[in-house]
Amino acid sequence: MRTGGAAPPETTIEPRPPVLAGRDLAKGFWVRRGRGPFAGRVRLVAVDGVSIELAAGTVTGLVGESGSGKTTVVRMLARIIRPDSGQILLDGGPAPSGRPLGYARQVQMVFQDPFASLNPVYRVRHHLVRPLRIHHRGQVDEEAALAELLHRVALDPPAQFLDKFPHELSGGQRQRVAIARALAVRPRVLLADEPVSMLDVSIRLGVLNLLADLRERERLAILYVTHDIASARYLADTIAVMYAGQVVEQAPSTILTDHPAHPYTQLLLSAAPDPDRTGPPQLAGGGAPPEPLERGRGCPFHRRCPHVMEVCRRARPPNVAVSPHHTAACWLHAGPGTDRTGEPDRTPEARNADQETTATAGHRIHHDPKEV
Ligand code: SF4
Repeated sequence: MRTGGAAPPETTIEPRPPVLAGRDLAKGFWVRRGRGPFAGRVRLVAVDGVSIELAAGTVTGLVGESGSGKTTVVRMLARIIRPDSGQILLDGGPAPSGRPLGYARQVQMVFQDPFASLNPVYRVRHHLVRPLRIHHRGQVDEEAALAELLHRVALDPPAQFLDKFPHELSGGQRQRVAIARALAVRPRVLLADEPVSMLDVSIRLGVLNLLADLRERERLAILYVTHDIASARYLADTIAVMYAGQVVEQAPSTILTDHPAHPYTQLLLSAAPDPDRTGPPQLAGGGAPPEPLERGRGCPFHRRCPHVMEVCRRARPPNVAVSPHHTAACWLHAGPGTDRTGEPDRTPEARNADQETTATAGHRIHHDPKEV
């Protein structure tokens, strides 16, 4: 596995119009800090200017460590939570606000924990019949639809699974039932939030192959969220790497993993399992991500980066096109003409203000949504 260096090849990936897209999404949460009369509330910036596109018949990988903001992005795309700023576009137009039935029918989620996402007191039949009745009442032959759903997720013969309770299934089988439940509404977009991270290693591959199969057969637009860049490389067509609430690199998966441009992506790849590597991983950088309340101005990775420069501490790096369809937010790739005097899109005062947003209880802090 390579972790940088040579110039990337020309990409041959055809651009496809996105079914679902997030543009410049930002989300912050108010959290309590301190105790008693000195308690205050501070604004925690979870996602800061993330753009992502999901096209039909493709898998987009969203990769990052815990706390990088991946799940918040998924929840905004699913319309479970509202972004503070930015836009969600469905087929190029603004997505409806809230999560109306018509939107839920097109955009479905698969959750991380198959043990918690299925109600243990109901049989598989109940979990699959419910979405069929909510979204397609009277339009389908229920028994035939149930058999077909289980067949699509490779739970054969269906009759063997329909009347089982979740605890009678293995973790992989439960996740397949959860995917079948999502498919029951005939969605166009599947948002899979760490769908294999709670499964045994031995059955992860089966679920990943199922997602790949759904991409090919049903041309679903799939967002595959994971902390494991190796599985994203296996499954995804394009990968976006998130760090501290921002997308720091985005590219077709082979280009991103063969020619990573951002030092954080290089760190992730060097830590990933590689059957060709004989020695221990050569980690370029160490430490841990900054706490959400301690993210300062400049590049969010600068405290861990082995290539850090003075400008990295002062100014947020621009998103630079490293090659066609490959972008990285890093000063190493910024041209000589780039403004390095401050942040291109936010003033130093605005960034400083993020760090000083403390207040005593009951005292509302002024918040401009664009600053989150
Ligand atoms: Fe490292 Fe600077 Fe690039 Fe950030 S902008 S990743 S600190 S070189």
